[in-house]
Amino acid sequence: VGTQAQAKTYTIATDTTFAPFEFQAKGGKYKGIDIDILKAISKKENFNYKLKAISFGAAVQQLSANQVDGVIAGMNVTDERKKTFDFSNAYYTSGVVMAVAKDSNVKKFSQLRGKTVALKTGTAGSAYAKSIQNKYGFKIKYFNDSNNMYNDVKVGNSVACFEDYPVMSYGIKNGIALKIVSKQYDAGDYGFAVKKGKNAELLKKFNAGLKAIKADGTYDKIINKYLKSDQ
Ligand code: GLN
Repeated sequence: VGTQAQAKTYTIATDTTFAPFEFQAKGGKYKGIDIDILKAISKKENFNYKLKAISFGAAVQQLSANQVDGVIAGMNVTDERKKTFDFSNAYYTSGVVMAVAKDSNVKKFSQLRGKTVALKTGTAGSAYAKSIQNKYGFKIKYFNDSNNMYNDVKVGNSVACFEDYPVMSYGIKNGIALKIVSKQYDAGDYGFAVKKGKNAELLKKFNAGLKAIKADGTYDKIINKYLKSDQ
């Protein structure tokens, strides 16, 4: 007795709304691919966690300020972020796309000139749009969450937004009145992040757990639950 170490409790930040990776079910409880993956991995690796749902930009900031232990939020592993964070092995492939209102005739970046583009603070989509802003001459309006960004495009204040392909296509299938008009631009795969040089044990557990849930079919079950049977 007393020799077994207590299971540790980590604070893990996630996005407020980023279906199918994280979103609130009826009653306010969070569900989604990220949430289920984290839960399954924590069981395999015997750790506890408190989920903290905040805007993606805030999650990334709090991780770099050491206020949370990890972030799982459909976060792309990028070279830029690797300067500040350590990432797990990738668990999902994604790319950035441009989306416009369903009835819009905008389909090329050149049609953005002089118009306003809606972006979500701190995201790979916003970094991509910033990288082409000078060339195409558009204005930028920032949002803290995906739903408000989509809505600004839907009501016509902004002509386009930049979002992750799996999230945008899931949203459109589930009734968001936008359409995807570009190819996918590479932004790096999704990984779980900790602050660089911190929480190495948690990262190790995440990787070991990810390997285990891939091997025993749990990972596929989670993906199918949200991306096959749902649609
Ligand atoms: N995948 C994007 C990124 O890493 C957006 C993540 C999000 O909005 N939750 O920046």
